[in-house]
This record gives sequence, C-alpha cells and structure tokens, in this order.
Amino acid sequence: MSSHVSQTTVVVVAETSATHLDLEPLDGVRLKDLTTLRVGGAPRAAWRARTAEQFARAVELLDAAGDPLIILGGGSNLVVADGDLDLTVVVAGNDSIEVLQGGVVRAGAGAVWDDVVAAAVEAGLSGIETLSGIPGSAGATPVQNVGAYGAEVSDVLTRVRLYDRETREIEWVPASDLDLAYRYSNLKFTGRAVVLEIELQLAPSELSIPLRHLGGEQLPLAQAREEILRVRAAKGMVLDPQDHDTWSAGSFFTNPVVAPELADEIARAVETERPGEGVSMPRFPQPDGQVKLSAAWLIERAGFHKGFPDEDAPARLSTKHTLALTNRGKAGADDVVKLARTVRDGVRERFGVGLVPEPVWIGLTLD
Ligand SMILES: Cc1cc2nc3c(=O)[nH]c(=O)nc-3n(C[C@H](O)[C@H](O)[C@H](O)COP(=O)(O)OP(=O)(O)OC[C@H]3O[C@@H](n4cnc5c(N)ncnc54)[C@H](O)[C@@H]3O)c2cc1C
Repeated sequence: MSSHVSQTTVVVVAETSATHLDLEPLDGVRLKDLTTLRVGGAPRAAWRARTAEQFARAVELLDAAGDPLIILGGGSNLVVADGDLDLTVVVAGNDSIEVLQGGVVRAGAGAVWDDVVAAAVEAGLSGIETLSGIPGSAGATPVQNVGAYGAEVSDVLTRVRLYDRETREIEWVPASDLDLAYRYSNLKFTGRAVVLEIELQLAPSELSIPLRHLGGEQLPLAQAREEILRVRAAKGMVLDPQDHDTWSAGSFFTNPVVAPELADEIARAVETERPGEGVSMPRFPQPDGQVKLSAAWLIERAGFHKGFPDEDAPARLSTKHTLALTNRGKAGADDVVKLARTVRDGVRERFGVGLVPEPVWIGLTLD
C-alpha cells in the first residue's frame, strides 16, 4: 500500500472510529508523552478507547484498513523511534476493577496495575502484593508475564478476555493458552490479540505470600505492599516524574539463562579479578538444567557502574540500579539505543553472554 493511500485510509478509519465508537482523540500527542522512557515521535493519530468493545472495534477497523497500529497501556515497556511514525496508537481506557466472590478480581485492560494490587490488598486478598509498584496497565501484565520479588502474574492469572486479531472474535481464554513463561507470552512481540480484561484468582489471607528478599518472611498484606514499594523506590523502580532514575522502561535486559559450564567459567573469571565476588555470583538453577544469571550483576562486573557513562550524558544507567537505562531529560531514542549497545557489547565481550532487551521496540532495533 502506498503511503498516500495508507494516509488517506487512516484518516477515514480514524474519523469513522471517532464518530461511531466515541473514542477519545489524543491530538498532537507524541510517544514521548505516552511512554515512561519518554522517547518516541509523532504517530499519525492516537485514540483512547473507553470500553473493551470500543478497544476491540478500533483495532478491528484499523486492521481491516491495513493500517499499522500499536496497542498501548501505560507505555512502560516500550522503546519507540523518534520522528514521524507510520502508525496509529490505540490506548486502553477501560479501567474497571471488580472484586468478585471467592477471591476473584477482574480488571479492565486500562486499569492501572498498581490500583488493582491496592484493591486486592484492601480486600484482604493475597497473591499480587509483591507486584506492587510495577508501572503500566492491567491489560499488559499477561503480555510479558510481569513479575517481581519471586512472584509472577501467571501464578494467579486464570483467564483473559481477548480480541483475536485474526479471527476477529472476542472471548475469554484460559491463561494456559498464552504460553506464559519468564517475561514472555505468545502475545509479546506478536500483537496477535488485544487483552480486553484480565481475571485473577487470589487467596483470602491476612498475611502476604513469602517475601523472597526477606528470607521468605510473611508480613500483614498492607505492610508487605509498603515494604515492596519502599524497596522498589530505593532502586528507582517506582515511577516518579521528579526522579530521572525512573524515566526508564524498567529492567532493560532480561536475566540471561546459560549453560552451567558457562556460569562456572564466568564465576571463576570474576573470582580471579575480585576475590569473593565470583563465588557469591547469584545463580538460579532452572528445571532444564540451565542457570539463570543476574543481568545487573554481569553488567556491573563488565565495568558499567551506576550512572554510566557520566552525569552529562543524555541517557545513562540509573544511578540507583544498573539494569535500568534512563533518560536524563533530553535523550532521544538514538541516545538510548547507543547506550544499550555499549552495555550489551561490553557484557558480550567480557563474558560471552548476549543480553536480550526486555522492552518491545517500535521503529528501531538494537542490532
Ligand atoms: C520503573 C519501571 C519498573 C518496572 N518494573 C517491572 C517489574 O518489576 N516487573 C516487570 O515484569 N516489569 C516491570 N516493568 C516493565 C513494565 O512496567 C511492564 O512490562 C508493564 O506490564 C507494561 O505495561 P504497560 O501498560 O505500560 O505496557 P506498554 O508499555 O504500553 O506495552 C507493552 C507491550 O504490551 C502491549 N500491550 C499493552 N497493552 C496491551 C493490551 N491490552 N493487549 C495487548 N497488548 C498490549 C503493547 O503493544 C506492547 O507491545 C517496569 C517498568 C518501569 C518503567
């Protein structure tokens, strides 16, 4: 499709959508306004859908016209190119949160995830309190199976209401259909379906699930939530517009899973240079015999310090956590990509481990 035809089509579709679906137009918005890393250029158009049905219908109309689009929640797991972007943005706006009988919590895709956690804790329901403070929308939580402090949403996610972009059907599907794994589902990078609602099965409890960072201690629910928010904030992992350490996409690289021999080799190499550090390397054995390593630990041992490269750089590693790449206020997408390449290449050269980015990339790549 030529860009002229495509451009015409999107205007028609957009106007149709706006009229018939009562979408909220986000005029003049740029992706840097919609993402937590605060980079990204101008889409052709952007709309917020107020209901699940409008969300699905907007995507259906744009798909039928062959117009590229991006489904957006809170923009906290995205790296988007600058400049004019050949795509339309559809933002989830249905933000209902219902606490139902039997510990079931149902949330609209556009609900703020941390509001869902707060509602569950308030209702005396345990299971997601360690996921407090993760930015973004409820609808995006299955996309990369969000997790923190030893828990993942897959532990409690029972089903999702999906709009399937191929069959054009809306239906509740079991969580097992999503192939949920560490920071992965079959929705991530594919955009094959739109999550319209999620449903969680939580457990009535006065106490939290065991807190891994406290050696498995269980705290009263509300106290556990405060504890997690405190620990996360100290690492710049709770959004704060005043704090550039939180202008990020969270953890920029996933924790690599490697062969045990390579893990041993890395530990030995570090131990030789820094006695005591190699032997205490964090390593998490996987069911298949492989070993998950800490990306932050490798980044630091490869020579990248907090705040790397220096305070004048537009994009730096967070001064609180080496795994977050941050925008100090004026960074463009290229600055972020350059920093990401430097870190990835440094770790590969030092340890032979290829770090894989966690966020979804739009209009640019790391390679
Ligand atoms: C400071 C900070 C801390 C973070 N900490 C964590 C953490 O501890 N653990 C963790 O797992 N993640 C963490 N993240 C990453 C991020 O918050 C999560 O991945 C979150 O679920 C993204 O939600 P979102 O609504 O912002 O998604 P977006 O960034 O808007 O979208 C991400 C991807 O999901 C797709 N998507 C969004 N909504 C839908 C939908 N309704 N249907 C289908 N596809 C959709 C988008 O198209 C895109 O591909 C952190 C991020 C930041 C900035």
